[in-house]
Amino acid sequence: MVQPILAPRQMLIGGGSLARLGALLRQFGLSRPLVVTDPWMVSSGMVERCLAPLRAEGMAPGLFSETVPDPTDTVVEAGLRALRAGDYDVLIGFGGGSPMDTAKAMAILAAAPEGTKMRAFKAPAAADRAALPVICVPTTAGTGSEATRFTVITDSERDEKMLIAGLGALPLAAVVDHELTFSLPPRITADTGIDSLTHALEAFVSRRANPVSDMYAREAMRLIGPMLRPVHADGADARAREAMMLGATLAGLAFSNASVALVHGMSRPIGAHFHVPHGLSNAMLLPAVTAYSLPAALPRYAEAARLIGCARAEDADQVAGAKLLEELRALNRDLAVPTPAAHGIPQERWEALLPTMAEQALASGSPANNPRVPSAEEILALYREVWRG
Ligand code: NAD
Repeated sequence: MVQPILAPRQMLIGGGSLARLGALLRQFGLSRPLVVTDPWMVSSGMVERCLAPLRAEGMAPGLFSETVPDPTDTVVEAGLRALRAGDYDVLIGFGGGSPMDTAKAMAILAAAPEGTKMRAFKAPAAADRAALPVICVPTTAGTGSEATRFTVITDSERDEKMLIAGLGALPLAAVVDHELTFSLPPRITADTGIDSLTHALEAFVSRRANPVSDMYAREAMRLIGPMLRPVHADGADARAREAMMLGATLAGLAFSNASVALVHGMSRPIGAHFHVPHGLSNAMLLPAVTAYSLPAALPRYAEAARLIGCARAEDADQVAGAKLLEELRALNRDLAVPTPAAHGIPQERWEALLPTMAEQALASGSPANNPRVPSAEEILALYREVWRG
């Protein structure tokens, strides 16, 4: 079998790497950046850390700062108007997954004929063309979007989070600087950290796992597993921040070269309909979906438990698998992950939307990569189990 392996052409990894952003652009012959970010990055002054190294290279960066959490097609269209209004040769996605994904989607839409809608690129369509390169600078240790061939955009007419995949969504380069994450509050730290763990675990048990994705996934789990609690407890812990940031990027490389699976398939509809932050909806689902999937890939889940650090090398697979489930439940307790009910989702709306959510989960293709492939009825049962907590 032929296995294509994708990664950005260059990744600058390490504390302080953002200072080299301008030089990185120069290396690629780029000099007219449009920085894509969210309003908080501007109001907090954080965006200056991205703009300063560009100005230091004599560049005059443009700014589009209207991205929203769970970016929508309408915001991408607004970004495209900003892109067309100037003379830019590179997009810089600066922020969490939402600004990075918005920048990627803008580059893809800009390569399409005028009037094309974002939904034209929804998977399984291939979004291989981009009008200009994208450089990503993550400020959360979470999505790994800086290293993936995906962007996730909400279809605002249909309330559907669309997975868009292809070479057009793969950044040219990434700057992975954990010093940008010190300002993350505990809730976002936990949610985005669990998102990374889920990426690594799902890539590792995916039916599309391969030796290269395994290499990334193993190292990501080894880095992230022991650091989730310390980084949540003390956001100033530089060692924990560094491990989480590298872990998130490696987890991105893992799932970009394998896939995500059932947790992500079921998570996107929760995000689309109830605006639960992406990592948080993953966390709500992770214990129940892992329990459901575990019998179909016990040796893999057992190895994951050992890598995460919740099982010992000498534990038999059955024991290690049980410890993994215990650890995922304990993590949710320790990191204060609420149930959907405790998060304020009304039960009637949850129940009423379940058939649509199950349909959207299946249609995304992610559940088909799960070690145990669910029917629509099984997905409904899992959503109900997660509701009960
Ligand atoms: P986000 O980008 O929506 O940001 C969440 C919040 O954190 C925002 O309010 C933001 O302003 C704030 N924030 C970001 N960095 C901060 C910092 N350093 N200090 C303080 N606050 C900060 O959240 P996210 O979880 O990073 O991204 C979620 C999005 O990414 C979802 O839309 C999800 O579907 C998508 N996603 C994409 C991929 C991919 O491969 N493209 C993978 C997973 C998830």
